[in-house]
Amino acid sequence: MSRIFSGIQPSGDLHIGNYLGAVKNWVALQGRFESLICIVDYHAITVAYEPQVLRDRTRDMAISLLASGIDPERAVLFVQSAVAEHTELAWIFNTLTPLGELERQTQFKDKSSRQESIPVGLLTYPVLQAADILLYKADLVPVGEDQLQHLELSREVARKWNARFSPDAPFFPEPKAEVTKTPRVMGLDGGAKMSKSLGNTVGLLEEPAAIWEKLKPAVTDPARVRRTDPGTPEVCNIYHLHKAFSPPETVQHVAAQCSTAGWGCIECKKVLFESMTKELTPIRERAAAIRADPATVKAVLRAGADKARAIARVTMREVKERMGFDP
Ligand code: SF4
Repeated sequence: MSRIFSGIQPSGDLHIGNYLGAVKNWVALQGRFESLICIVDYHAITVAYEPQVLRDRTRDMAISLLASGIDPERAVLFVQSAVAEHTELAWIFNTLTPLGELERQTQFKDKSSRQESIPVGLLTYPVLQAADILLYKADLVPVGEDQLQHLELSREVARKWNARFSPDAPFFPEPKAEVTKTPRVMGLDGGAKMSKSLGNTVGLLEEPAAIWEKLKPAVTDPARVRRTDPGTPEVCNIYHLHKAFSPPETVQHVAAQCSTAGWGCIECKKVLFESMTKELTPIRERAAAIRADPATVKAVLRAGADKARAIARVTMREVKERMGFDP
């Protein structure tokens, strides 16, 4: 069975952008692939943070993932900092990665431009990402298009290490991208991306009343000024959310009603709200039950870390031996 590695930062509760763009896909893949799902807390400390907040968010992310359908019987769910081999391999890869390649990474340029003092960790973030993936010799990595450049760097690191220390038969596979099919979910404010820092999200675990309060004013097709103006569903974020949450016959109905001005945007949003409530209510209820049992969450993460560490240790033993260290 091919192995798949997915990482997510501990940003607390998931929002529906994370859920639709990544986690739902991981849930679908977990039976078909050997799945490792890692809460990448070391990545989260490349920007300013509070220790207690990090701890809470790591736990909340684990709860959200489990409630969304990540099944510890079919996937290895663990926290990055519980497996020391991630940083050990990252150091080794640091010695092989040219500075210029890291400085060219779009995400580094974007994030560093907003900081007065740039921590080295922000620059070497993609090297740690390469270590996350290659430590498990993952064949596939589910990514959004904005992560393709980092994945290419992981492939480059694998090629470099193989050429230097395993020239006859590649030790590290070059991981392939499993590009998520779901289009990126836009912010409710019409922004290009749904993001917590932009305050335009719907939380996966939010109460229905709070979700409706956010949906009501959400941006729709800007050309639909009057109720009688026909709309263009494809340019409307609400239509894309229908495609993610509503059954196909409803999506067809939305498109027909919108393009003929058969109904207004509020009617359209009410139908979306019903579809979202149907899918999200069981997740919210499961999350509440999981949250009430913190010992089980800890046990799941501990067992996941044990399984991940067992694979990581085998990789590191071989890596060190080939590099001239006494394993
Ligand atoms: Fe968007 Fe629905 Fe309004 Fe059309 S009717 S513009 S799909 S909210």
